[in-house]
Amino acid sequence: MVRSVAMSSDTAPKYNNRKTKRKAREAAVLSNEFISKTTQSLLAVDETTVKVAIQVQAKSSSTSKPSRIIDTDSRQPPSAESGGVPNPTARYLLRATSPPMALPSPRRILVIMDLNGTLLHRPSKRHPFHFVERPHAKQFLSYCLDTFYVAIWSSARPDNVNKMVDRLLTPEQRAKCLLVWARDKFGLSLNDYNSRVQCYKRLTAVWADPAIVASHPDADRGVGWDQTNTVLVDDSLEKARTEPHNLLEIPEFQGLKHETTDVLPQVHDYLNALCHQSDVSSYIRETPFKLDPSYHLSDTTL
Ligand SMILES: [Mg+2]
Repeated sequence: MVRSVAMSSDTAPKYNNRKTKRKAREAAVLSNEFISKTTQSLLAVDETTVKVAIQVQAKSSSTSKPSRIIDTDSRQPPSAESGGVPNPTARYLLRATSPPMALPSPRRILVIMDLNGTLLHRPSKRHPFHFVERPHAKQFLSYCLDTFYVAIWSSARPDNVNKMVDRLLTPEQRAKCLLVWARDKFGLSLNDYNSRVQCYKRLTAVWADPAIVASHPDADRGVGWDQTNTVLVDDSLEKARTEPHNLLEIPEFQGLKHETTDVLPQVHDYLNALCHQSDVSSYIRETPFKLDPSYHLSDTTL
């Protein structure tokens, strides 16, 4: 029997009726005004402050917390023509050092979702359209589409991305995605596109996309998506190199029988917690997603 992912978390945003939807919108407006003011004051800092902030962050990450080291894997770095290997900007890092603050009410965040290794696994390249779904993948995606703004971005080729999306989503659900991006959206040279190169998901590219810009509920007031309200769900730390504190790093799904089945329900809970935060990047920097090995879906929430 198919059972649904737990959706009754205490932290779940409630958008179930008109009144609560209106309240959520009002809270979002207040939140965005607060965030806008905070951003303006942050952007007023001078270059010296930026450098100090980066040094402080580097020192604290090397002494007090397990470091989120950005490593490389076996893939080749992209050529200069494709943008090379990027780094976070000083402004981004400074902003992420602000202390996390809870919002009075939850708001809808932008969730950028990876596919392969996150929601499903492709066992063989010889059979590129054969996939194994991660447990709860469809229920999880359905919940995300109902609760957050969702974009999909995979480094697979467009044909493969379409097949993966067709496997996970109905046409109606796909239409609710703000965008579905594939390998052709990484700015790769033709040679890199056809090679095993490391891809980098620069969130600034998503934030600048016209469909994404227009999707923000306060777009008409010039409010947009940024590091305060966006999370990338991906199994690759390296792909998130430019905005590392906006990454919800999920353990890679390899389609193995002994893999834990409760990963996506835990991601679901973490995403709900992010809805209560004024700055996603500062929250993730302080409290990155971690699997709880003792987590189990209770019978009452199935
Ligand atoms: Mg992946």
